[in-house]
Amino acid sequence: LAMYTAKRSGRSRYQLYTPELDAGTRDARLRQAIADDELVLHYQPAVTMTDGSIRGVEALVRWQHPEEGLLMPGAFIGLAEETGAVVPLGEWVLREGCRQVAEWQAGIAGAERITLSVNLSPQQVKQADLVDAVTGILAETGFPADRLVLEITESVVLEPDAPTIARLEALRDLGIRLAVDDFGTGYSALSYLQQLPVTILKIDRSYIRGIADDERDRRIAEAIVRLGLAFDLYVVAEGVETAEQARLLTGMGCTVGQGYHFHRPMPPDRAAHVLAAERAK
Ligand code: C2E
Ligand code: CA
Ligand code: CA
Ligand code: CA
Repeated sequence: LAMYTAKRSGRSRYQLYTPELDAGTRDARLRQAIADDELVLHYQPAVTMTDGSIRGVEALVRWQHPEEGLLMPGAFIGLAEETGAVVPLGEWVLREGCRQVAEWQAGIAGAERITLSVNLSPQQVKQADLVDAVTGILAETGFPADRLVLEITESVVLEPDAPTIARLEALRDLGIRLAVDDFGTGYSALSYLQQLPVTILKIDRSYIRGIADDERDRRIAEAIVRLGLAFDLYVVAEGVETAEQARLLTGMGCTVGQGYHFHRPMPPDRAAHVLAAERAK
């Protein structure tokens, strides 16, 4: 027992991932964190790559843990997805993102038209009351539906059932845009993509990484961009880290990008500063 106790305290930084805290305890702790407002959002701009102008921001969740520090989504989203805690978490993210960006749209000159992108987990998309939840949050925050982008992953796109398709169509009918996130990492069946009211395709950063140095990688990225454009999709590159990558992508016809070359995800005060400076340019 002494050894166990020592080990636990000695490794407290890793408590969240180690089996020493069982899944049930970690789940309860995360649900408490949502209720206690320990979650925070960071925002990463998406830009027009030719001039760097900001089109919108993606909300990315972090957990400001009182003992562990700032935790990245990789440390808790997986568990939340398994236990269902990702549903209240996702609603919190949508509400807080809409509230914050509505405030920027109203208060920062030039930011009136920026979009907000929010990640939807597969569990959320399966919820029968998803559309009611989204409608309620838009009404509550006054956020304009036509400025909202919901990002879904390929696992949702693959073999969507009729109720899922109906929910996504209802969101589309509200004026919300749907993006397929991490495109190319899953099964990428375009036949499924065609069944869904998706208008944006985000190319996963694993396809962007090698485009400047590797001929094969460049051709794959090019093929994905062409495929997206052929299906009348709006193609966005993620993980753009260099000017050369941005230049190559622009040449392929992909004009919007997100990545460290332009902006890292930022806490709200910093993002507000960047949005305000944008106007001054
Ligand atoms: P994602 O949706 O693909 O988000 C992009 C991730 O790539 C973010 O990591 C971002 O910080 C990182 N990134 C952006 N630009 C670059 C770049 O140039 N280079 C590199 N190497 N990385 C870049 P983050 O914030 O750790 O989020 C990881 C994943 O967690 C997200 O991937 C998303 O799948 C998930 N996630 C984040 N927030 C939420 C949320 O509110 N709800 C749900 N369900 N999932 C979320
Ligand atoms: Ca995303
Ligand atoms: Ca992504
Ligand atoms: Ca990704």
